[in-house]
Amino acid sequence: MSSGTVENTEPKESDEKTEEPESALETARRQLEHAAAHLDVDSGVIERLKHPTKVHRVAVPLERDDGEVEVFTGYRAQHDDVRGPYKGGLRFHPHVSEEECVGLSMWMTWKCAVMDLPFGGGKGGVVVDPKSLSSDEKEKLTRRFAEELRPFIGPKKDIPAPDMGTDAQTMAWFMDAYSMQEGETIPGVVTGKPPVVGGSEGRDEAPGRSVAIIAREAADYYDYDLEETTVAVQGFGSVGANAARLLDDWGATVVAVSDVNGAIYDPDGLDTRSVPSHEEEPEAVMTHDAPQKLSNEKILELDVDVLVPAAVGNVITADNAADVEADIVVEGANGPTTFAADSILQERGVQVVPDILANAGGVTVSYFEWLQDINRRQWSLERVNDELESHMLSAWNDVRAEVQARDVSWRDAAYIVALSRIAEAKSTRGLWP
Ligand code: NAD
Repeated sequence: MSSGTVENTEPKESDEKTEEPESALETARRQLEHAAAHLDVDSGVIERLKHPTKVHRVAVPLERDDGEVEVFTGYRAQHDDVRGPYKGGLRFHPHVSEEECVGLSMWMTWKCAVMDLPFGGGKGGVVVDPKSLSSDEKEKLTRRFAEELRPFIGPKKDIPAPDMGTDAQTMAWFMDAYSMQEGETIPGVVTGKPPVVGGSEGRDEAPGRSVAIIAREAADYYDYDLEETTVAVQGFGSVGANAARLLDDWGATVVAVSDVNGAIYDPDGLDTRSVPSHEEEPEAVMTHDAPQKLSNEKILELDVDVLVPAAVGNVITADNAADVEADIVVEGANGPTTFAADSILQERGVQVVPDILANAGGVTVSYFEWLQDINRRQWSLERVNDELESHMLSAWNDVRAEVQARDVSWRDAAYIVALSRIAEAKSTRGLWP
């Protein structure tokens, strides 16, 4: 998985004309101020939340396969832990930066709080192109990074997870390196591990499942019968394919899906299980037989009831927001809608259900994984999915209550729920010393 990953720092072609995408940090701070304007929160608490508690910068030396030694830079940003240990991914990507880690760690604080998980926000990574590493090099880099971060992390302090460029195997190496140095097996130090070493069933599917649950609830809220609801999904990877297939299973008509090469469209509905997902056969959506092929831009403009952008960030921009014909947008990717696009969609009455709620199934099942590790007791897939369903419904109901009470957008409502919880915890604990 890539728990809580955000790609809204990477400019997309369509943005280049009129709009500079915000950095993750700018987005996180703006959302904080937006939510604060609706709440009676002590200004000192807001000021504290604008700053990460700590940012660790470490050197990660690696002996390459050819014997050369290279030193990479790694970060771990720890935004806030008032509600519990920091939680968030570790990415291996050439664009990792301190500012990006801080911004993404703030997003994780809001995401965990909207889900009412007992976690705060963290994010980190190594500035490296993972494709340039052999498997041995990746393992050594991961182990050394784990060792450099060891004083700052742990099941009660900060619990990393996979993100862009890292995966379940990376987390297994990370957990092993940490455990070897601590002298005992400590599976709860990271989540997103393979089930055989303390990972949870249902973890990989969870973000897509939560997107499907929230899309189903949103359709119901706006009086659509799911059996008559049409859906388009951009991106057919872990999030997009799982969301599309579940919605299809539950009776919705998934008329279009896409990958990086383009989209397939069938107004009568696609058989989503027969379309290869990114994991099953990378970038093969267009090889599937369908009445029509569309570009990735056009899938966003289809006249459907529900649009799920589940590929990358910044795809709905000021340039194309006026062309979005869907009634409801459920954000599967992190940050698919730019700030400017959000206002245009709002003015046009298009409902946008935000990423921090919709794709939060990943971090929620990470929480379940952590509980299983601490209790040394594995849950069945059925239990994981039942608990995820009830956590998603409860978060949906909390956000819905704010939408109704304050007449605000779904995004503002989600941030209001998150900020009230964090601010109340901060005020109750007080400022030390
Ligand atoms: P993935 O790599 O499994 O799949 C991505 C899909 O998007 C692929 O089908 C790919 O072909 C397609 N794609 C890539 N670039 C594209 C482009 N420019 N235009 C259209 N399609 C494109 O990724 P994923 O794990 O499903 O993640 C998708 C999004 O969801 C990302 O924004 C990620 O940050 C976010 N997210 C993922 C998780 C998770 O655990 N997987 C959790 C929360 C959020």
